[in-house]
Amino acid sequence: MKFIVLGSGSSGNTFVICSEKTRVLVDAGLSAREITRRLALAGMTPSDLDGIVITHEHSDHVGGLRTLLSNVECAVYISGKTEEAYYRTYRSNGNGNESARRQEAMKGRAVGIESNKHFCIGDIDFEPFTVPHDAVDNFGFVAKNGGVCVAALTDFGHMTQLIREKLNGCDLIYIESNHSRDMLRACPVYNWSLKQRIASKRGHFSNEDLADWMTNDFDGSAKHIILAHLSQRANDPALARITAETALQMRAPLFPAETKITLSHHAQPSEWFCF
Ligand SMILES: [Zn+2]
Ligand SMILES: [Zn+2]
Repeated sequence: MKFIVLGSGSSGNTFVICSEKTRVLVDAGLSAREITRRLALAGMTPSDLDGIVITHEHSDHVGGLRTLLSNVECAVYISGKTEEAYYRTYRSNGNGNESARRQEAMKGRAVGIESNKHFCIGDIDFEPFTVPHDAVDNFGFVAKNGGVCVAALTDFGHMTQLIREKLNGCDLIYIESNHSRDMLRACPVYNWSLKQRIASKRGHFSNEDLADWMTNDFDGSAKHIILAHLSQRANDPALARITAETALQMRAPLFPAETKITLSHHAQPSEWFCF
């Protein structure tokens, strides 16, 4: 299995999971042009993709999908509720009927999935699980191939018992470290209601939330934890890293974790992670 983040942050989220035979793009929140450019940096073209998975309808996860679909022929794996929300939730650019354009682009392409039911794309098994977020049907997932497990979850407001269980035994965990609670409180750009939304139980996972999970619940099995969806306004990459690394060191030392923390970036792809 191989994993690469093409970009992650409030402005757009897209990553790729590959087996020897199968290449899957997850979310299309960057522009189609930027996705194509970053796929090329990673040695791929859009026509190499065997499927696109959409986790939820927020624009930072679907903003580039419609245009991308004119350059790829693969299916889009999306839940019925999310597909419906994709057609009615968008930022209007005042340029015609975006809803109709989206429906046209998706014609014959959607494969209905459920946010808590196993599905396969090629030889990669996906086990999605519901996460608490203010979208209609958001999910995280564990992807499996050849005995390797990769977990990916962003856009969730708090840890649940189900999520804790799903993260056990994974080789790589791509997980949200959205904001610093102090920086969010002090952020002069966001208004009060947006701050409330981000900090709520159905908002976004903070550096401190992630640190709690790492210290108290992380089983130490993942070789890599990639910090994802960092806010450009209410977080600082160095702070997110030090918070996570400190939390890792504070784990009970019964099973010393040899886990490497990597930051994802909104403007450039990560390295490839290979297993
Ligand atoms: Zn998001
Ligand atoms: Zn979201």
